[in-house]
Amino acid sequence: MAEGKIIDGKAFAAGLRERIGRETARLKAEHDVIPGLAVVLVGENPASQVYVRNKARQTAEAGMRSFEHKLPPETGQDELLALVEKLNNDPAVNGILVQLPLPDQISEQAVIDAIDPDKDVDGFHILNVGRLSTGGTGASAPLVPCTPLGCMMMLKDRLGSLSGLNAVVIGRSNIVGKPMAQLLIKESCTVTVAHSRTRDLPAVARGADILVAAVGRPGMIKADWIKPGATVIDVGINRVPVEDGGESGKTRIVGDVDTQAAMAVAGAITPVPGGVGPMTIACLLANTLTAACRQEGIEPPAL
Ligand code: NDP
Repeated sequence: MAEGKIIDGKAFAAGLRERIGRETARLKAEHDVIPGLAVVLVGENPASQVYVRNKARQTAEAGMRSFEHKLPPETGQDELLALVEKLNNDPAVNGILVQLPLPDQISEQAVIDAIDPDKDVDGFHILNVGRLSTGGTGASAPLVPCTPLGCMMMLKDRLGSLSGLNAVVIGRSNIVGKPMAQLLIKESCTVTVAHSRTRDLPAVARGADILVAAVGRPGMIKADWIKPGATVIDVGINRVPVEDGGESGKTRIVGDVDTQAAMAVAGAITPVPGGVGPMTIACLLANTLTAACRQEGIEPPAL
């Protein structure tokens, strides 16, 4: 188990990527299978371009095949759906990720619905959502959304068994809050999901042995919201101006938790940056490896 108050997501993700690389090499040597991940980017959103570049680089570094599809911003829904269908039918592609957000003329739900659930490495398809909530195993095991999957790996590494612990998830989005709550239920936590209508949020948060913040509000969670010794997972990524009176126009990334103050109270905490963020892409690679194994009828490795 890890030591110290800071949960080092960067180091944890590097270790996970190394294990994925080893298992990928073994899959090739023993079964002649090379996992392939297709990433589709529509338009020129600068943040999305950075994510897609990092995903492609780390996919290749893990020994997997990376297929990049960059489409112009004016791409129509039918054109994108035709590409998804082509990737669904391509045996070299084991995982498909369509980078969100998509331009207004395309329905995100229609695109998510069109992805083969067995290749849905984001875990957003309704079949994977259902499998996660019904606790599917074996052939019915879900592909789990990458960010909550990474949070859960770090929690288990830090705490061992989570059974019986009180967990509070702040945020109820489909990509973070809800799947995070499902994973915590599966680990036998007693789970509360809080959101913008929750009454007396600080009091709710203070009941948490595990506090997961996935809100998108810089420094919202204060030290006196945290139960002494609690494990705090900060999913938030918020860009704020550096403290120079706005003179330089420079920005920095902060989380949803007032980390410096929270450190005095929490038992363990993920920093931002360097906590949950690096785990998300590593878990995308983990899901691609898992998907490739399942498609080939091979038991996926425990990572
Ligand atoms: P959403 O905007 O989809 O959801 C935010 C949630 O926070 C909603 O459920 C909302 O409640 C709740 N909320 C908003 N304001 C408050 C408040 N004042 N008090 C209590 N709850 C509140 O965000 P995401 O889930 O997509 O992302 C959350 C954060 O995590 C963002 O900062 C995002 O950038 C980051 N993120 C980080 C990732 C990573 O890799 N580390 C990956 C994905 C996201 P309601 O439902 O009532 O509106």
